[in-house]
Amino acid sequence: MDLGRRELVLGGLALTAASRAVAQGRSRPLGYAIVGLGYYGLGVIIPQFKNCEHSRLAAVVSGDPAKAKKVAAEHGLPARSIYSYANFDTIRDNPDVDIVYVCLPNGLHAEYTIRAARAGKHVLCEKPMAVSVAECEAMIGACKRANRKLMIGYRCHFEPNNLEAMRIARSGGVGRIRYVRSEHGFVQGDPSAWRLKRALSGGGSLMDMGIYSLQAARYMTGEEPIAVTARESTDRKDPRFKEVEDMIDWTLEFPSGALGGCLSMYSANQNRILLMGDKGRVELEPATRYDGNRIWTGKDGREQEVTPPPGPGKTQFAAQLDHLSTCAVSGREPIVSGEEGLRDMRIVEAIYRSAREGRTIRLTSGQRA
Ligand code: NAD
Repeated sequence: MDLGRRELVLGGLALTAASRAVAQGRSRPLGYAIVGLGYYGLGVIIPQFKNCEHSRLAAVVSGDPAKAKKVAAEHGLPARSIYSYANFDTIRDNPDVDIVYVCLPNGLHAEYTIRAARAGKHVLCEKPMAVSVAECEAMIGACKRANRKLMIGYRCHFEPNNLEAMRIARSGGVGRIRYVRSEHGFVQGDPSAWRLKRALSGGGSLMDMGIYSLQAARYMTGEEPIAVTARESTDRKDPRFKEVEDMIDWTLEFPSGALGGCLSMYSANQNRILLMGDKGRVELEPATRYDGNRIWTGKDGREQEVTPPPGPGKTQFAAQLDHLSTCAVSGREPIVSGEEGLRDMRIVEAIYRSAREGRTIRLTSGQRA
């Protein structure tokens, strides 16, 4: 047997043993490095490792040495597991780190995903995947070349209410799906926020909350859109909206004839998904928050609340972290891979183009990557 083949066979055996070990809960949890100790990375994700079975915090990457030192001390990490953005690439020499979780502003997602893949690490990258189709393709290419998994932080695919709505939709519970409405927004009050600077955000509310609206339209219908028509409304005299859009509204056309009415905005709070079919409806409000989401089914109004639906008993965040850990060990593709982020980014670019040019944009081949 030549060496390449022998390595392949041995690798396969190791993988099988490792997958079995993870499935039986016997393997060491995989180590995550959190890049960006901001609101999400530090405030939301790091506290979730205590709820994980297959994942643990192994390193932090930050531009603030004092903050990084404090966080590391609180979580029992050694000094060698603290990285700056400048020495981040040396993470390749740290065997404690299996996965890098990019929790940076959108405009930095591509750079850190590619650097992580080159350092031999699997990557979980926050939404939006990046700020352009070209960046998404470069990220997928870098992870493929390094033979590492790439997953996007689409936590709603692990959220029990959204999972229940998808189950109802797929099992014909609303009949033939005719319409999905998805609206997401919050009041962006701080004019200095990076979310309002195009170089770091890539765009306005669409790049932020709009991703939830777009995702929901796709995962609720289970279809890929064939056309999009968008309109934008932004008060350009408002100092917050010098560089990016406030409100954008778009209609997706699906092959079945279903329509998706989607909205994102930075000037009102909204968080809702409504799925309508010829036999009934499903409504979620709030739909995609961290907790407290609620779900109703019915024919008219909200006559039957089914909150809380059956779930895995794990938070959406822990389920997401553990999903990538088990995929990394088993070799399976994550259910929300880089290709899924790329599909969204292709549609995002078409939404912006439609709003700019004032016309419907046809999407080729259902946007399948
Ligand atoms: P944040 O501003 O609170 O944190 C960003 C971090 O990046 C900070 O620690 C900051 O110091 C660091 N950083 C490094 N270089 C920077 C630069 N050049 N400019 C600004 N900050 C820089 O932002 P956040 O709310 O934590 O968002 C981070 C990412 O997480 C975004 O991509 C966002 O879309 C995503 N996010 C996802 C969810 C979700 O529910 N999945 C929720 C919030 C944020």
